[in-house]
Amino acid sequence: MLVSFQKLIRRNCIHKDEKSEFHTRIDINKLRQAFTQIHSKLKEWNSKSLEQIEEVKPGEEKEIKSLKGEEKKLANYFSRVGDNQKIKRIFFNNPIWQLRVNGKIRIIGILEKDYIDKKFLPDNIKQNSKDLFYVLYYDFEHTSFPSSDQEQPKEEDLVCIMNENCSRYFFLPNETEEED
Ligand SMILES: [Zn+2]
Repeated sequence: MLVSFQKLIRRNCIHKDEKSEFHTRIDINKLRQAFTQIHSKLKEWNSKSLEQIEEVKPGEEKEIKSLKGEEKKLANYFSRVGDNQKIKRIFFNNPIWQLRVNGKIRIIGILEKDYIDKKFLPDNIKQNSKDLFYVLYYDFEHTSFPSSDQEQPKEEDLVCIMNENCSRYFFLPNETEEED
């Protein structure tokens, strides 16, 4: 399965409000390990066929699942920020799926099955590369569809990393800017 970042929702960072638990931030204490985990999973999915990713090993949770029926909820999450119509079009007009990175991190995106006609692909990657997953957003703290027993990080530890215009955008405190 190929993974694309072409449709990544970057500027619509969402902070928790009274109406919803949903936000797109990450616990600053998990930042370093999160990217190692995400990258190793993306690499793994990239080298597997969709059928292999869908296989559930005994004692393990599903790695990929359809979010069909959840379009309204997803559109509502994002409707308070950014271009409402554009967001609605994304969620209502595409097959939305969820990838599981680990116990906490999820990746939500569009799964286009048989996106690339197999006849155009070389034999060795025919099965693995015909399906395409567009990442829409990272759900770092699993707040889109949370489990009820889930522990949430402290509010002051949550930072934005997807929107550089946000006041809570993550930066390295000791970093000094160098002049050319
Ligand atoms: Zn933010």
